[in-house]
Amino acid sequence: MNKNEIYEVLIEDISNDGEGIGHFEDKNGSGKIVVFVKDTAVGDYVKIKLIKCKKKYAFGKLIEIITPSLYRVAPVCEKAASCGGCAMMHMSYEKQLEYKFNKVKNCLSRIGGVKDVEKLMEPIYGMKEPYHYRNKMQFPVGLDKEGNVTIGFYAGRTHSIIDLKSCAIAHPVNDFIVKNLRQWLGKWQEKTGTFIYNETTNKGLVRHILTRVGFTTGELMVCIVINGKKYPDEACEKELIEAVEKSVNEYNNSKNKADLTISLESLCYNINTENTNKILGKKGGVTYKNGFISDYIGDVKFNISPMSFYQVNPAQTKVLYDKALEYAELSKDEVVWDMYCGIGTISLFLAKNAKKVYGVEIVPQAIEDAEVNAKINNIDNVEFICGKAEDVKIKEAADIVVVDPPRKGCDSALLDTISNMNPKRLVYVSCDPATLARDVAYLRDKGFNVQKVSVVDQFGHSTHVETVVALHRTGM
Ligand code: SAH
Repeated sequence: MNKNEIYEVLIEDISNDGEGIGHFEDKNGSGKIVVFVKDTAVGDYVKIKLIKCKKKYAFGKLIEIITPSLYRVAPVCEKAASCGGCAMMHMSYEKQLEYKFNKVKNCLSRIGGVKDVEKLMEPIYGMKEPYHYRNKMQFPVGLDKEGNVTIGFYAGRTHSIIDLKSCAIAHPVNDFIVKNLRQWLGKWQEKTGTFIYNETTNKGLVRHILTRVGFTTGELMVCIVINGKKYPDEACEKELIEAVEKSVNEYNNSKNKADLTISLESLCYNINTENTNKILGKKGGVTYKNGFISDYIGDVKFNISPMSFYQVNPAQTKVLYDKALEYAELSKDEVVWDMYCGIGTISLFLAKNAKKVYGVEIVPQAIEDAEVNAKINNIDNVEFICGKAEDVKIKEAADIVVVDPPRKGCDSALLDTISNMNPKRLVYVSCDPATLARDVAYLRDKGFNVQKVSVVDQFGHSTHVETVVALHRTGM
């Protein structure tokens, strides 16, 4: 096969990055080739042009949809194809859920070697309403070739900014914030010439706009990430506060009566002067009101600062944690170890049904937040330990262990430690089914077997999947 050749293919599956997967017979006799095609849905019959060729696979550009898939829908967002955020918005939500369920099923059976896995899996927990579900947004800011302000999202796999008027998965107050801050940014860019950050030169002040909304409290945080210590002058700061307050008022006036009223509780800045892909720097401060907002998951209250990790989909987080609680089968007598505990969300959620919960987390700031969160909820049967989960000193024997690692999964040293702790049950919360499956296979050799699996969709229209697995020590 060669670049620029044209083929017709049927899209049979979706890759981890959301690209359609099909096959074609190489015209030049190299046999069957796998091809990845962006913006296609399972069931599409398409004409493609090859843009990159490897030995056994290729990447194709969609030229024409000859017969559309039955699962194809018109994306709610007109920028869906170019924006890196929603890779599957052109597929019906039901089909997205089926894809996610199958992804977990295939990983657990192929990589994890779990037999009859489908019998252990509950039906996937999809969202009631897969729009406007995100409580956190991070908008990069830049200038286009004509010098106009752009705020929005990075295009898939690049750092060019897709300018955005409205985001279908964000809380709708964001549309007003983006609109009013675009004006503020434009005015001060005109005045100073260096107000907007340029990634290539590492010059200019404003880099990102971060927002968070407490979905039960209505409290709003806006955090401006700046390449410097402060704004040009007080007028600039005052106009920022006015622009955000105006956005809140406009939103509240436009919303349905039953929707939550939003109030600005925290306007912060974060200083990031490094030439880096990381959004946040280490230091910051408060411009107006508080340095944090509050929100609830179930009846547990959390204070959230700009740097804290907090799940982005509150409604589905509740579903996920309820599953973790159910799979832990607590009766108030158990000692629980919550590894990778972040700001203590799962630890505090489980505490009311446990004798004692130990939370272990590597980031000191998160541990400080976790301790504050325990205090504001009057929960005193938790203890947080700062350090690597794989190195932690086990103070008290565990009845139950919960792990919620980052995408790379658990360190094998930690899995050995868990095995030596000899808990009755292990609850594994995972954001990557491939590493989950790898760890499940490792744990089977230690006598832990999968009892139940549930997949909870936290990120509608993206390819990400969240899974909870109950493992019991039955094999030894
Ligand atoms: N359970 C929390 C956080 C999960 S995210 C929640 O649901 O909100 C995973 C967490 O693991 C992050 O907070 C990250 O800082 C932490 N982490 C990463 N590597 C770690 C390690 N080796 N030991 C302990 N914690 C780690």
